[in-house]
Parts: sequence; structure tokens; C-alpha cells
Amino acid sequence: MADRLYDRYMNASSAWRAHSKGCTVCRPEQCCPTGAVLAARFADLQDAYLRRLRHGGTP
Ligand SMILES: [Zn+2]
Repeated sequence: MADRLYDRYMNASSAWRAHSKGCTVCRPEQCCPTGAVLAARFADLQDAYLRRLRHGGTP
């Protein structure tokens, strides 16, 4: 049941996780510039994905 939004959401999630695991600068309160970009992208996609789930429709 993968679709493009879900794929992007998962990609952003794993990119963010992989970065924060290897990054010595990123912390929950403070991200490095790269981490901040990845975290923002992940948050946006998560928001879009969850909003779509809640409305039960397809974008
Ligand atoms: Zn980082």
C-alpha cells in the first residue's frame, strides 16, 4: 500500500534517523544545520501524512 507520500515520509524518517545517529552535534533541543533541514522535512511529511490519514482520503 505504498504511495508517493508514504515513501517520501519513510525516506525522510530514515534519513533523519541515520543522520542523528551519526551526528555528534544533533541533540533533541538543538540540531546542526543539516539535521535541522532533515528534521523539518520529516516533520512536514509526517504532518501531511497524518493529516491525510485523519481525513481518510488520498491527496
Ligand atoms: Zn546533525
